[in-house]
Order: sequence, then structure tokens, then C-alpha cells
Amino acid sequence: MPKVFNWQLNREMDYQYEESRPEKQFAIVFNINRCIGCQTCTMACKNTWTYSEGQETMWWNNVETKPYGGYPRHWDTKLISMLGPGKWNSETYEGPTIFENVPGGERVLGHMPTDEDWATPNLYEDTPAGTLEHGTSLPEHNPWMFYLQRTCNHCTYPGCLASCPRKAIYKREEDGVVLVDQERCRGYRECVKGCPYKKTMYRPTTKVSEKCIGCFPRIEQGLGSRCVVACVGKIRLQGWVSPPDNFRADNPLDYLVHVAKVALPLYPQFGTEPNLYYIPPRWAPRPFLKQLFGAGVDHAIETYTKPDDTLFGLLRLFGVTEKVIDRFEVNDREAVGWDEEGREVARMPFDEPMYIRQEIDTRFDVQRINEP
Ligand code: SF4
Ligand code: SF4
Repeated sequence: MPKVFNWQLNREMDYQYEESRPEKQFAIVFNINRCIGCQTCTMACKNTWTYSEGQETMWWNNVETKPYGGYPRHWDTKLISMLGPGKWNSETYEGPTIFENVPGGERVLGHMPTDEDWATPNLYEDTPAGTLEHGTSLPEHNPWMFYLQRTCNHCTYPGCLASCPRKAIYKREEDGVVLVDQERCRGYRECVKGCPYKKTMYRPTTKVSEKCIGCFPRIEQGLGSRCVVACVGKIRLQGWVSPPDNFRADNPLDYLVHVAKVALPLYPQFGTEPNLYYIPPRWAPRPFLKQLFGAGVDHAIETYTKPDDTLFGLLRLFGVTEKVIDRFEVNDREAVGWDEEGREVARMPFDEPMYIRQEIDTRFDVQRINEP
């Protein structure tokens, strides 16, 4: 089996195919600290793609409540127990990935959710762990919970792609989006089993598998995916991420992932080098967060809690434009973003302008009631 370098694990690992990175890699950063669990992103995904016959199940974004929620049910806990123990030695992962602990005859370690597992997308929504009897505490809370925003990670080493015996799954050179060729797919469902994030789905009506397409028709026009653009909490920032030996500090995603290191991949130990990144929630127990996001959790939370001006400015650019920001700059307490053509697409001051109305409206000679 070929050896490839996985920078999130800081080591080589086995993979079904040779290392081959796209020209540009689709990526999203989610600031979990800001998510209000409104599911607008979920509805945006569903409303965008399920509008006519043959598209009934094209719905891929979900938001689940951790620690108890999961869609499909137990998608992560089941795989973690199958994977067995692993640990972080500084930034290096020591333990098996889903490509290295595989039973005979299989390409990828995985499990197939049952119909019941797929039936309850919002099970345990808003259910916290811990009890008030043990009191509350800071900075970590007791009880606690947080929302986890999930869609396809458009992985660098996709488990779905590695497990497909028909070679029906491919990764686009121009943007790293992972797609299922509907003509080649025969519905064997190996990808459903092989995706550790359970983001390929089988559709019984057409008897083929399908998955998130990253809203690529929008990406091709320099626009963000629907779940990103619709986000009410402005917790999402979409763009391009580079490997750590080749990043640009003025690229917003590279800055969050490689410079400030506040945004971390979900379950990097699975080994797929996922391309969705998360700013971890400050209030949740660190051991739990480290299991989800790896060794960088303490640094990420510390940096996010006391951001410098560059990070503070960049955080203000989340959700302010439907365009993908390719380059940013923070100067004079103002953050500015440009698209790939060099056009300015976002400008955000650190301080929102404030206008205080006079108490008396002189036009009508009436007293105003100023709401705070
Ligand atoms: S998250 Fe799953 S479906 Fe998406 S690219 Fe990775 S392995 Fe494939
Ligand atoms: S729309 Fe944004 S704030 Fe609402 S649930 Fe989705 S990610 Fe969270």
C-alpha cells in the first residue's frame, strides 16, 4: 500500500492511492463558540437541493448536539471503539488510522449505520452532560453541551474514495471537492461504510450513493456554499486551505489553521485529513475536546480567548459576504477582504458605528423612548 504524508497527524500513513493534492482545496472554518443551533444551515442545504423529482434526499448538512447527539446515531463513538487506543505525542499521532487497522479483505475500517440510526437527526438536541447538583464552574461549564456543525469534509485522503471498488468517487483537481459519479456507482454502499464521518448516503429510489457536492456551481462563481452563506450566527468562513509547507498568511483559512492555529480538524486520528476546521468551544471539558479535535485544543482556546488584532479582525469577517474571501488584511482597527480577482468584498470596522438619537423629536415635538 502507498505511503502518504498526513500533516494533521504529522506522520506518514498507509493509503489506498498515491499522495495527490488538488490545485486548491475547499475548506470551511466553523466557530463553535458562536453557533446558536438554529439549523438554518440545515434548512438552506435541504431547500437548495431537494426541489424536484430525483433530488428528494439531497440533504447533507446537519448540526448535532455533543456529547450525546450524532447523526446517524453513534457514527463517531462506534468507530472510535473499533479503532482502538491511540495517543498524541506532542503534535504526532501514535495509533492506527482507519486505513491501518483494517480487517482482512477490507480497504477501510468502517461500519454501516442501520435504518434506525438514520431515522433521528435531532436525537438529544440541546441535551447537556453533567448536573447542576455538582454546581457550576468557570471557565469550563457544568452542565455543558455544544453544537457540532457537520457536512462532508472533502477530505484529502477520503475514506469513501478509498473504499469504492468501482472507482466511482473522485476528487476535483480545481477545488478538491469530492464527488460520486452517478453513472459508475452501482450502489454497493462501500463508501457509506468507509466514510468515517458518515457523509455519503445511499438513495433507495435510484439505488446509488450520493454526497455533499460543496455547492460547486456556486464555488465556480466565487460564491460560498449555501450552508455557509445562510448561517445566522455568522460562525462560518469558507475558502481555500493549503498544506503547512506552502501556506499564505494573508489567506484567511491558512491564517486560522496554520498561523493562529485556532481552527482544528474533527477527529484527525481517523486519517482522512478532513478539510472542515473548528474553533473549539471554550466551556467544554478539555479531555472530550481533545478526543474530537486532537492535540491543539489548549493552544486554540487560549489564542481564541485573547486574540491579537489580526485574529480579532479576521473573526469579524465571518459571515459578512456571500463571496469567498481569498486575501485579507487588518489595519487601523479595520478588517478588509478581497476575492480572487482582487476585488474588495468585505470591510469591517472593529467598532460598530453608533448613533444616539436626541430625546426630543423636534419635527413633531414629541419625546422619544430610546431603547438600549
Ligand atoms: S467526509 Fe466522508 S464523504 Fe466526505 S470526502 Fe471524507 S470520507 Fe468522503
Ligand atoms: S445556521 Fe449557523 S448558527 Fe445556525 S445552526 Fe447552522 S451553523 Fe449554527
